[in-house]
Amino acid sequence: MASLSLKNINKTYPNGFVAVKDFNLEIADKEFIIFVGPSGCGKSTTLRMIAGLEEISSGELWIGDKLVNDVEPKDRDIAMVFQNYALYPHMSVFDNMAFGLKLRKTPKDKIDKLVHEAAKILDIEHLLDRKPKALSGGQRQRVAMGRAIVRNPKVFLMDEPLSNLDAKLRVQMRIEISKLHQRLETTIIYVTHDQTEALTLGTRIVVMKDGLVQQVDSPIDLYTKP
Ligand code: ADP
Ligand code: ADP
Repeated sequence: MASLSLKNINKTYPNGFVAVKDFNLEIADKEFIIFVGPSGCGKSTTLRMIAGLEEISSGELWIGDKLVNDVEPKDRDIAMVFQNYALYPHMSVFDNMAFGLKLRKTPKDKIDKLVHEAAKILDIEHLLDRKPKALSGGQRQRVAMGRAIVRNPKVFLMDEPLSNLDAKLRVQMRIEISKLHQRLETTIIYVTHDQTEALTLGTRIVVMKDGLVQQVDSPIDLYTKP
């Protein structure tokens, strides 16, 4: 539940490589923004700067009315879902989902409530005692989303969340993500290579190339413009 503002954002890596150039974008509350573009065009770098996992070289990043350039990742009210799920293998599903809440010193009974609520939404209540290795790919992806939604973040960042799933599961999870977006009324920024995902999920699609934003359009305009 937040607007985002990216103002003239640039990223130069320590080796001198310029990965993102003059990125400008105003994102409204509850938008579903898609980043597309060839491998290496700067999509993940941009996402990681928004999450605070990568320093912004120059420019300003605003979440709501707060300039967050120097705000730590855990204080940004942002949750990120990765392609490889990034679950802790030695922890149960419950503990994986509770991790971010424990880190933020949430009381135990509240953690319990939030984890069970999220597990219910994602239909993984019956899996809470399992370890990640005892889950299917689709179940792992649900857990990864669960650990993001327990925190009720203002902004979700998803980096190719479905690309490791088979085609059938991808369709199913795409529909679930769409429902989740409506239900949670959250702002989502979503990186994908999949044209169907981009066109069906996005309110707007940002096309990147060589670190530059080439085009920003609604799915309909992108599809029908010459
Ligand atoms: P995408 O997500 O669009 O595939 P990335 O944001 O991952 O692209 O990468 C953008 C460019 O930055 C690529 O050319 C990549 O090789 C480069 N890059 C990514 N991380 C680093 C790093 N730590 N140091 C130097 N270059 C990097
Ligand atoms: P959560 O997604 O559970 O809320 P956070 O995103 O707050 O967790 O991550 C908490 C910290 O743990 C961050 O510094 C993050 O980089 C790190 N982290 C998250 N997943 C992993 C992982 N699989 N392995 C190592 N560190 C991780």
